[in-house]
Amino acid sequence: MTKVIIAGFKGRMGSTAVDMVKNDNTLELAALVDPFATEKEIDGVPVFNDKADLAGFAADVWVDFTMPSVAYDNTKFALENGFRPVVGTTGFTEAQITELIALSKSKGLGGLIAPNFAIGAILLMEFSQKAAKYFPDVEIIELHHDKKKDAPSGTAVKTAELIKETRTYKKQGAADEVETIAGARGAEFDGMRIHSVRLPGLVAHQEVIFGANGEGLTLRHDSYDRVSFMSGVNIGIKQVMTITELVYGLEHLL
Ligand code: NAP
Repeated sequence: MTKVIIAGFKGRMGSTAVDMVKNDNTLELAALVDPFATEKEIDGVPVFNDKADLAGFAADVWVDFTMPSVAYDNTKFALENGFRPVVGTTGFTEAQITELIALSKSKGLGGLIAPNFAIGAILLMEFSQKAAKYFPDVEIIELHHDKKKDAPSGTAVKTAELIKETRTYKKQGAADEVETIAGARGAEFDGMRIHSVRLPGLVAHQEVIFGANGEGLTLRHDSYDRVSFMSGVNIGIKQVMTITELVYGLEHLL
């Protein structure tokens, strides 16, 4: 039985993860973490306000769906205390990921930081990387609900990083283009553009649009419901038990 801690259990993703863990009889919900929770326990599962109180607690995996501002500290804490992190919270810098990978190796602990747990989104990233080899003109449009705190999304950044590996560098758009309203062309990453849309009613969506002479290619993925992420979280929880370092991206565990 794998014992799972869930940080951010009251949030949209965390509460969906609680249901997923409860419905898998090989997983045990060991503890819940939220700094503002008033409950001391829920259905026999202890609730912690301060993660420091979990030092020495018996659990295997730390699932994190919290906020970009705390996810790095939480992941570091998990590794330092022997919990294998499975982190969906976005907003990590490259330097933080590198540091956490090094820490996981020194502890011999598996872990996962995944900007997107939906299998379709993993495929979208893979297909985008392949297409970018032939279509260097590409723009990414990510669309999310209007409570999302970071922009661009972790998935958009990861997609751009993967595209960069196969695309021949090109500064997108006209050489003499001018923005008459700042930000009109979106964020720049290695010469390509990333646009972030925030609207109520959306969950998590992304389009990668390629253009060439006389043709276009649009790849799109839609998460209509947060349950779309849960098979990936489930795989992550099980797979981190079998590896000895943290990986960035669910594709490494599929
Ligand atoms: P959310 O509904 O705002 O949930 C975040 C929860 O974390 C809130 O209940 C918040 O409490 C709580 N929290 C804040 N600080 C905390 C701390 N120090 N320890 C424990 N809990 C804490 O957000 P969400 O929509 O679930 O998204 C959570 C994260 O997952 C975001 O970064 C989002 O981008 C990411 N995400 C990832 C994927 C993926 O596939 N990887 C998919 C969707 C979303 P308060 O509200 O009281 O502050």
